[in-house]
Amino acid sequence: MPERTVTALPLVSMNAADPTNTLMDKIVNLCKRRGVIFQSADIYGGFRSTYDYGPIGSLILRNVKDAWWKTMVQVRHDIVGIDAAILSPSAVWEASGHLENFTDPLVDCKECNERFREDQLDDPLSCPACSAKNSFTEARAFNLMFKTHAGPVEGSGHDVYLRPETAQGMFTNFKLVLETSRKKPPFGIAQIGKSFRNEITPGNFVFRTREFEQMEMEFFVPPEQADKWYQYWCDQRMKWYVDLGIPEDQLRLRPHDQDELSHYSSGTSDVEFLFPWGWGELEGIANRGDYDLRQHSEHSGEKLTYFDPDLGEHYFPHVIEPAAGATRSMMAFLLAAYDEETVNGEVRTVLRFDPQIAPYKIAVLPLSKKDTITPLANQVFDLVKERWMTDYDETQNIGKRYRRQDELGTPYCVTIDFETLEDQSVTVRDRDSMKQDRVSIDRLVEYLSERLR
Ligand code: ATP
Repeated sequence: MPERTVTALPLVSMNAADPTNTLMDKIVNLCKRRGVIFQSADIYGGFRSTYDYGPIGSLILRNVKDAWWKTMVQVRHDIVGIDAAILSPSAVWEASGHLENFTDPLVDCKECNERFREDQLDDPLSCPACSAKNSFTEARAFNLMFKTHAGPVEGSGHDVYLRPETAQGMFTNFKLVLETSRKKPPFGIAQIGKSFRNEITPGNFVFRTREFEQMEMEFFVPPEQADKWYQYWCDQRMKWYVDLGIPEDQLRLRPHDQDELSHYSSGTSDVEFLFPWGWGELEGIANRGDYDLRQHSEHSGEKLTYFDPDLGEHYFPHVIEPAAGATRSMMAFLLAAYDEETVNGEVRTVLRFDPQIAPYKIAVLPLSKKDTITPLANQVFDLVKERWMTDYDETQNIGKRYRRQDELGTPYCVTIDFETLEDQSVTVRDRDSMKQDRVSIDRLVEYLSERLR
């Protein structure tokens, strides 16, 4: 094995001319080069702040969502999943309060016509684009929901909205889920799906986009148990990120100050990640009281209470909501996994993903395209493909192929060489240590199962 000198990459660059963007630039560049994330409508010049997930990115994003679904739904008998519609009528958003309150304060600079969120300005008197002083218009409440219309007629009564969060689907289906799933509080309804917000200032790559994916769960509890469950979910959700490889020193749980809380919330905490520009939210965990069920009950006329047969009474369950972003979390996983080290005088870039997040778990790499090797390589691919997402790559020299797999974060490369023809064994290379083991083909699945979750 070659000697290795390892240099740690600073999370925030020390480059004075470019103080925050070095790591981000590297991630954005890698994402484009390796088919992770592309600018949407790229061939038409790109559609601002909208992104497409390529062959590698769609696998990573799916893995983030699958890991969430497994933790939140599959291994629990007290949470069920749904998949609700993206389009919904104004009545839903009237009841939820989004029509009235889901707004950001918008200001325009009268000098350069740029628009900003007033609450995000460092100095509310100075334009960050043109440095003009006192050039802002009065703040206007700008509703972030995308509105469209259903059917051929436009106008009020036909307005529909693209959901700005998935949560309302859990509240509007509460009664039907309760009746059909035979659950009782405490129990949860979970959902993963696209949400849309007409953000005034999208940016920082996929951190804030107008179309994004959320992973949300509404946990319905007897009112007196709300505080206990709120604490439980704060702990569980922090643990989820740590278990999937985000270093603890890049994560924190930040309780909201009293003035940040919505009027119905008795507690909200954000799971925050240390992005290159500072701490940013990955997920909010809120103790929402009975606000949502009560609102929908009043507006729809449906009784959204739970009848407790032991107490002999109806009550509105309280709701604890862990609301995470799938696309934003994926970005955090990419940033946390990115590493560079110097190996024999050359920089090796490696994504040290947890195997659950890694797009491919294995890469099968035949050393040559010769007729003698290809059938054997296909045989190895067939052995592992049902169980693990596996890449098959027979182009370029083996060193370049290893580097490519390192940049994709593939935990194990399996190389089939001329010796394989003799001894029915393959070389398995570990992504992190670069250590190579010779493993007989009939033991390969067992060998990999011991190392991959
Ligand atoms: P922010 O303060 O960053 O706008 P928020 O508090 O409005 O976020 P929530 O409504 O709590 O966000 O949504 C839950 C999660 O959905 C967020 O923690 C984030 O991960 C994700 N999310 C929200 N808005 C966006 C967006 N525009 N782009 C990508 N992800 C988003």
